[in-house]
Amino acid sequence: MSMTKERPSCLYPSCEVRSAKRSLCTKHYFQAYRAIQRGLATWDALIAQKKAAPKQKTGPKPENWFVTTPEDSKA
Ligand SMILES: [Zn+2]
Repeated sequence: MSMTKERPSCLYPSCEVRSAKRSLCTKHYFQAYRAIQRGLATWDALIAQKKAAPKQKTGPKPENWFVTTPEDSKA
């Protein structure tokens, strides 16, 4: 088995699957997501318990990047 690091593995104990979202693999991400949908958990609570990672920030929102404010168009 190679030890090449691509992405860290899932936070779920003994789960070796590469993380996909919020440092969880797809399967465990959806289990967390379903628990949240049922009102059994929140992302904030899971993050506080180190059971999920905060959502990755990917720079400015694309929709904001395209917005031209009235001040810009007058210049
Ligand atoms: Zn997992």
